[in-house]
Amino acid sequence: MAFDYDDSNIFARILRGEIPNDTVAENDHALAFRDIAPKTPSHVLVIPKGRYVSLDDFAANASAEEIAGFMRLCAEVCAREGIGLEAGQGFRAISNAGPHGVQEVPHFHLHIMGGRPMGPMVS
Ligand code: IMP
Repeated sequence: MAFDYDDSNIFARILRGEIPNDTVAENDHALAFRDIAPKTPSHVLVIPKGRYVSLDDFAANASAEEIAGFMRLCAEVCAREGIGLEAGQGFRAISNAGPHGVQEVPHFHLHIMGGRPMGPMVS
């Protein structure tokens, strides 16, 4: 399956340094920054530095190093934000994909949301 990546999307522009972001953590393969319209007290977006449209694109086509770097940065975000299970908290991680997932920005990202109890999952 082909995944068409649009280099003009806003997260690609953030990665190129064309627009600012509120960085939480970064490594060689991924960047984590605060969502501009947070839905929870802690709402961080984690994005790979590579050109991937969605979770299925990333999971199928990224290298093992990219996937490991991305996942390790997710753990770092949870630790830095104090929302992980080690802190006795908990969080929700969501990735919207494509039209059915109502994905707004076509660069793969994981929403890591915490800082308060979540409600039930909704459609
Ligand atoms: P999704 O594509 O529907 O998963 O959501 C995209 C998310 O990106 C939304 O929660 C937006 O608030 C967020 N967003 C859009 N532009 C920016 C930005 O420039 N900085 C940080 N977050 C952004």
